[in-house]
Amino acid sequence: MALASLKAESSMHVQRKTIKSNVSITGIGLHSGIYTKVELHPVPAGRGITFVRADLHGLRIPALQASTTALDYATTVGKDDVAVGTVEHLLSAIMACGITDVDILIDGPEVPIVDGSALPFMHLIDAAGVRELGAEIPVLRIKDPIEIVEGDKSIRLTPSNRLVLKYKIDFDHPQIGKESFHFDFEHDNFLRKIAPARTFGFMRDVEKLRAAGLARGGSVENCIVLDDKGVVNGPLRFKDEFVRHKILDLLGDLALIGRPIVGEITANRAGHAMHSKFVAQILRAAAAEEPAKAVRSQTAESFA
Ligand SMILES: [Zn+2]
Repeated sequence: MALASLKAESSMHVQRKTIKSNVSITGIGLHSGIYTKVELHPVPAGRGITFVRADLHGLRIPALQASTTALDYATTVGKDDVAVGTVEHLLSAIMACGITDVDILIDGPEVPIVDGSALPFMHLIDAAGVRELGAEIPVLRIKDPIEIVEGDKSIRLTPSNRLVLKYKIDFDHPQIGKESFHFDFEHDNFLRKIAPARTFGFMRDVEKLRAAGLARGGSVENCIVLDDKGVVNGPLRFKDEFVRHKILDLLGDLALIGRPIVGEITANRAGHAMHSKFVAQILRAAAAEEPAKAVRSQTAESFA
C-alpha cells in the first residue's frame, strides 16, 4: 500500500498556466504612498512568476522565497537594493487562478493596494483570461509534518492531497477578538469567500507606522480602519473579514514556494514573518525529500 500511494503522490502534477493577454491596473502603494502601474504579461512555460521593474531597465525579481527582503506588515521581494513591496495580495490572486508563469511589470516600488483586497486582481486576471501552457509542474507534497511555534503563535503543515488553510486570530479589540476560518482551496471558493476580504489597520498604530515610512498610502478607501471601539469605515464585507484576510495573505506568501503545494496548513496568530519562516522550512524539507525539483524551483530565473 505504502509504495503504491507514494508513487501516486510523487507524480502529482498540474498544468502550467499563464494569462491570455496583457492587462494593467494602477493605484497607490499602501506603505510607500507612491502610485504605480502593474502590467501582467503572458510568458512561456517554465519562466515562473517574476516581478519586472519596468522603470529600472527591466530588472527581474523572481517571486520566490529566496528574493524576500522585508516582512514587516507586508511582504517585499527584491534584488540588488531594488524592491517590490506588498506583493502578497496580487500573488494570492495569481495562486488562486492557478497561474504558474507570468511577468508582473511594475514602474515603481510597491504593488497598488487598490481596495485592500485581492478582488481587483481576480477581476484583472479574469479580464486577461487564463490559458494552459501544455506543460506540467510538479505539485509539492511534503511527507512529514512541519511546525513552527513562537510563544502563542504557531503554524503547522500536515500532509494531505488537497490544500486546506485554517487560520485563527485573537486580537485584543472589541470588533475582532477571536476569529477562525477554514478554507478549502478552490478558485470559486477563493473568489467568493477570501478575495473580497480587505487588509486592516489600527488608528493607534498610524503615527508609529508613518514614522517608520509605512502606511503612507493607507486610507479609508483601501483598508479597514479601526479605532479603539470599532470599525471607522464600515460596513465590513464579512463579519469575520479579518481572519479571511489572513488566509488571503497566507496564500500569497505560499506563492513564494515557486510551485503549487498541497497540505493542511493551520496557522494561529501568525503573520508575514512567520509565513516566511514556514515557507523556508517547507523548502528545506522539499530539498531533502526531492532535491532536484526543489533546487530548480528556487533558481528558476537563472536561465531566463
Ligand atoms: Zn494583506
